[in-house]
Amino acid sequence: MSPITPSEVARTSVVRTVAELRSRLAAHRRTGLTIGLVPTMGALHEGHLSLIRHARARCERVVVSLFVNPAQFNERSDLERYPRRERDDVALAVEAGADVLFAPSVEEVYPPGFATSVEVLGLTDRLEGAARGSEHFRGVATVVTKLLCMAMPDVAYFGQKDAQQVLVIRRLAADLNLPVRIEALPTVREPDGLAMSSRNALLDPDQRVRALALSAALDRVGELATAGERSAEALLAAAHATLSSAGVSPEYVALVEPDTLEPIDRLTGEALLAIAARIGDVRLIDNATLRPTPAAPSSQRLPGETITRCNA
Ligand code: AMP
Repeated sequence: MSPITPSEVARTSVVRTVAELRSRLAAHRRTGLTIGLVPTMGALHEGHLSLIRHARARCERVVVSLFVNPAQFNERSDLERYPRRERDDVALAVEAGADVLFAPSVEEVYPPGFATSVEVLGLTDRLEGAARGSEHFRGVATVVTKLLCMAMPDVAYFGQKDAQQVLVIRRLAADLNLPVRIEALPTVREPDGLAMSSRNALLDPDQRVRALALSAALDRVGELATAGERSAEALLAAAHATLSSAGVSPEYVALVEPDTLEPIDRLTGEALLAIAARIGDVRLIDNATLRPTPAAPSSQRLPGETITRCNA
């Protein structure tokens, strides 16, 4: 793709209000064009851009939202340090195929008197909900519901990197009868395995090296599972050992059923392995889906099944 010119960026409107967004999309909707929405908090990287490119390939109009949502930050310092680079984001999003960038102010999203929140029960008690407190997913669920109501897309795209968030959003969309399809796309990684994240920019060089322990732990568990290990206790112990050998003590490492997030004792079907850890004061998460598949007959293989690790 040829480099984007400043005039192309200028032609792609950055809209700041819900009224402008609705009027930009009204004609598209009337003529039956498919609208895709990619919600982001900006500081765009290849993970976000993969969602935008995917939306571009499948939808006739692509809306990207850039909004650092204060309601989902449980720590003020995390919110204050969160990287903000709107000019770069606009150029990157346009180059990846965005037609409309929705970058509202906090007051536009939460005007004076705002008093409604969306809470998804059950799923949000675990993993990130347990570690970050109930306000995190309440903030996520509320802002995503609002963005879906504002843009009224046919499809909304999210990253499997935030696997629990995908489940929460699918749940709320179903429970509230929102006429939108929720699609989850695979985690995009740096060449050395680190899951891309806007927070990676906050890591110093030493922390950047230690951060690799998260994906290394996922890989190690995948290897053991492929070799036939089925005990959750043994698999989790291996993940802890990999993290600890890099000097990383996780907030949690969990092997759970991928739809309910209930912990599992044995790997008998598809499972989600999820990790959260602080590297210095930068909080990172990562996960992998472990998929046992029926084994092809082979004298080499352990009876019953093989495991494929995958990021999807
Ligand atoms: P964020 O800006 O962190 O709120 O992320 C916006 C969207 O991008 C969410 O749906 C994330 O799950 C997704 N995302 C973030 N990092 C990645 C990644 N490394 N690969 C794929 N999707 C990602």
